[in-house]
Amino acid sequence: MYDILVIGSGFAGSVVADRLAREAGKKVLIIEKRDHIGGNCYDKKDEHGILIHQYGPHIFHTNIKEVYDYLSQYTEWYNYSHEVVAKVNGEYIPVPFNLNTLKIAYPDKAEELEKKLIEIYGQGKRVPILDLRENKDEDIQAIADYVYENIFLRYTMKQWGQKPEDIDPAVTGRVPVLVSDDNRYFQDTYQGMPLHGFTPLFEKMLDHENIDVKLSEDAKEHLEFKEDGIYLDGQLFKGEVIYTGALDELFDCKYGRLPYRTLTFDFEYMKEDSFQPKAVVNYTVDEDFTRITEYKKLTGQQAEGTTIMREYPSAYTGENGQIPYYAIINDDNMALYNKYVGLVGKYNNFHLLGRLAEYKYYNIDGIVDKALKLAKEIM
Ligand code: UDP
Repeated sequence: MYDILVIGSGFAGSVVADRLAREAGKKVLIIEKRDHIGGNCYDKKDEHGILIHQYGPHIFHTNIKEVYDYLSQYTEWYNYSHEVVAKVNGEYIPVPFNLNTLKIAYPDKAEELEKKLIEIYGQGKRVPILDLRENKDEDIQAIADYVYENIFLRYTMKQWGQKPEDIDPAVTGRVPVLVSDDNRYFQDTYQGMPLHGFTPLFEKMLDHENIDVKLSEDAKEHLEFKEDGIYLDGQLFKGEVIYTGALDELFDCKYGRLPYRTLTFDFEYMKEDSFQPKAVVNYTVDEDFTRITEYKKLTGQQAEGTTIMREYPSAYTGENGQIPYYAIINDDNMALYNKYVGLVGKYNNFHLLGRLAEYKYYNIDGIVDKALKLAKEIM
């Protein structure tokens, strides 16, 4: 009855479903474990009427025009440029560390240091902290120490349980030292928030006669991997299967669990109209949580009172209710992941897509781009 089976309805699954249904006229079934669509980008109003992201703050930004144009079919945008500050010893400093942060950290020497940074790296350059630390120049060493101590060390210990130099360099590279006075968190050409939220965007994407969505269903209960192919509810499924969930869990973690970091979110509503200066404040030198998001400031919503959310990271254990958010990329974990990939390699109609299924750190635009490409390939 269906040509395509999609497991999961986050951006990965929803984009593929949308393209194959609309562009190729395929009949698509989406099986979603949760009782809602949208994956971790799901947002909703809380009991005080404040629009919140239930699974942590998601901000859209991209340099890929095709991705921006594609999503723009399904939403208008609130013209928002994300800015983050870190609360360091009672003071708010711009993150990523940039030339404005430099002026706060070194009020007397800023001009001289700025000149040096521009001379060595070039105006507008993005320098990963681990690269900055390699520089032998005394002044640059001092800046690197400041950034490492005040922005990266404690936050990364909380987020990953490891020091910055011991995790995948691409992770800390996401938040480089910025040789410019641009306070934005992202420098991408296109950035913004879906004007009415992420959930309505997903609803529009999936609202098509060729797409059926089954919520609150664990696909694992319906699938069997046999010698001659993949079975759906006891029948050989000849169409394409796009799987966006955790690959180890599909096989009962038989080689051991893939390690992830999880998050606990602590929401709090307050009567005040404003809690903090920016939508996100990072706690980089103290506290047990990594950051506080104030949702109104992210979504542009006008409302009475405000809802904030603290994020507490920890190791994912797979216990009931825990959600695997971040893959921990290193050689051992990739080797384990690849063992699981070996179990599905022989099924030509089975595709792994997304943060979980690919055990990868994707931004929204990265996964939308990848999903558009996979859909084209299948077509
Ligand atoms: N990071 C940090 N301090 C900060 C911001 C980021 O140490 O104030 C490090 C930390 O290791 C984090 C990584 O940079 O996991 C990537 O940060 P990003 O904000 O991109 O993380 P995400 O929003 O994806 O959780």
